[in-house]
Amino acid sequence: MRGWFIQGEELTEFEKEFAAFCGVPHCIGVGNGLDALTLILRGYVELGCLSLRDEVILPANTFVATALAVSHAGLTPVLAEPDADTFNLDPYSVASRIGSRTRALMPVHLYGRLANMVALKTLAEEHGLLLIEDAAQAHGASLGDRHAGTFGDAAGFSFFPGKNLGALGDGGAILTADDALADCVTSLRNYGSSRKYHHERQGINSRLDELQAAFLRIKLRALTADIAERDALARLYCTNIRNPHIDLPDLPTDGEAHAWHLFVVRSQHRDALRAHLHAADIETLIHYPIPIHRQPAYAAIDWPPLPVSDALASSVLSLPLYPGLVDPQQVIEACNSFKI
Ligand SMILES: *Cc1c(COP(=O)(O)O)cnc(C)c1O
Repeated sequence: MRGWFIQGEELTEFEKEFAAFCGVPHCIGVGNGLDALTLILRGYVELGCLSLRDEVILPANTFVATALAVSHAGLTPVLAEPDADTFNLDPYSVASRIGSRTRALMPVHLYGRLANMVALKTLAEEHGLLLIEDAAQAHGASLGDRHAGTFGDAAGFSFFPGKNLGALGDGGAILTADDALADCVTSLRNYGSSRKYHHERQGINSRLDELQAAFLRIKLRALTADIAERDALARLYCTNIRNPHIDLPDLPTDGEAHAWHLFVVRSQHRDALRAHLHAADIETLIHYPIPIHRQPAYAAIDWPPLPVSDALASSVLSLPLYPGLVDPQQVIEACNSFKI
């Protein structure tokens, strides 16, 4: 350490290295993933590209932070349905939600799998919308030589310890090729200041501190190998889990690399399956049990029916998958022995 705990050399170096890893000109480190997404939207409001109460379309089956970012920036969340097989935004559902107040699309690369960015980019271009990626779960996911975080106008990442690239505490980053947005969010994360004690904007304090940045620089070197390990485990599960009550996720094709943040199966008997695995000492999680439109925090909005999101919330189950997982065979056997 150089006695410089905030906005020092480690942060600058990490920002350069993560930008180069993903292949975009600008990376701006911030305090967490929620701030990354919120500051992108606030930045576009500051720049006059978005106005208060403009609508932003996002999936209903995401972590609440995606919707909170929209709300915290003074914008209006509009929920669209995912595709039940990929878990990611269904472009047809998105198209059906586009109206006169729609100004942005915010797909999530859920569980580490890229959303259909080709179709979403076409929609964004046709309707003149911003395209902002919630890449909090997708560090290292790619299509051809393009990484998550480089398909839209800007992307928000999280370095929460449980993510594929995790710090020792909270952390996040904004990636963008947009010079004006990069300048704006760099000021917004630092009290709206780009020169000490001069405040051009009403910013916030959102820091990726030196210790986290130094740690992330080391972790970043292992990210590609970690993802390869996740991929090998996912393939092992997909070839060996055989049970009519368990629907496995699709393996990506056509030059797409899944980051496998989570390995999510579906079952009509999810809760019984979960109990069966628990009895075999295998802990599972549910991402996510309550979709955004069912959250009390969003009860004031009159949502349209979202049957696909509801069906996923009651059938998804995340099996253990992480680098260093000791006994995948035990998971496979427990899944295969599940009966109704
Ligand atoms: C983790 C996560 C976030 C928020 O990141 P934090 O660092 O926890 O604020 C946002 N969106 C998605 C999809 C996430 O998984």
